[in-house]
Amino acid sequence: MLAGMAEHFQEDSVAAVGVRIDAEHPHGMIFDPHQPQLRVTDLGAIRGDGIFETMYCFGGEIRKLDAHLRRLARSAGICELPLPPAESWRAAVDLGIEEFSTRGTLPEHLTIKLVVTRGVEGEPAADDPAFAGTAWVLLTPAPEALLASRGEPIAVTLLDRGHDSTAAERAPWLLLGAKTLSYAVNMAALRHAKQHGFDDVIFRTSDGQVLEGPTSTVLLVHRGAEGSPPRLSTPERESGILPGTTQGAIFAAAERAGWELGYGPLTPEELHAADHVFLASSVRLVSPVSRIDDVEMPVDHDLTAELTALLAEDLPVGRPLDD
Ligand code: PLP
Repeated sequence: MLAGMAEHFQEDSVAAVGVRIDAEHPHGMIFDPHQPQLRVTDLGAIRGDGIFETMYCFGGEIRKLDAHLRRLARSAGICELPLPPAESWRAAVDLGIEEFSTRGTLPEHLTIKLVVTRGVEGEPAADDPAFAGTAWVLLTPAPEALLASRGEPIAVTLLDRGHDSTAAERAPWLLLGAKTLSYAVNMAALRHAKQHGFDDVIFRTSDGQVLEGPTSTVLLVHRGAEGSPPRLSTPERESGILPGTTQGAIFAAAERAGWELGYGPLTPEELHAADHVFLASSVRLVSPVSRIDDVEMPVDHDLTAELTALLAEDLPVGRPLDD
């Protein structure tokens, strides 16, 4: 532990715990995230050249850890980025939770970020067999505002993502479908939405396919005819979106509950025609969409609760992340 850290943490009401992973500490080493940690030449900072995951931990139980580790590996593959092994991440996350527990301040709702960058510019030699990137885990209490917004209806605007539906395949260097550190565009889209009176965004391609939110997956629900199960659908990930771990977990539980599932190229018209639309993500869980631009959408709080309950089953995430 770094000098003076314990005192610092005890005084700090928004305490956070950091755990770095490097060649000398493959199972993690605690650091103080309130102190400077990153070199100014780190490629994650100067080029956004890195990837991340954001996980949710409730009451000390990490949700969907395997699915997040698989998506991290998938992003690393797309970016050709060296990655510490899964056991290093598991050990580092456990160490961070243990640190909170030891201090007696484990928050009930915790956000856990896994971050890895291509490392420091020019260092070390490219042929060094040891992991040479920068990798860390950051554990922070989940933001109160985000927790309070769970299940609340949101107004969204459809925004052009600036590429067509063939871009993911045609231009792999765009890294579509990888969860890279380059989220400035996603954040700019959210600011644009807020300036225009919306809570969130659904991106679409320039040729009119529904993609995802800047930090969430789009879910559509069609109610079946009397006596038949509802149908749950989501955009196909071949269009260059992130395979959502929340969507995957909901689909796994819904399938077990007998719902019909669908993955498709979806148009804005199909969004409007759905009985209900939701945005889903790991910490915010499920938000019902009450308006898409100037089209009002029906909100059903029971259905929101039902989807949230499916998520709480915490089944292993199936098909969407299996390559
Ligand atoms: N799509 C994007 C672009 C995201 O950033 C996120 C999460 O932050 C999601 C989808 C939802 O992913 P998950 O359900 O794994 O949190």
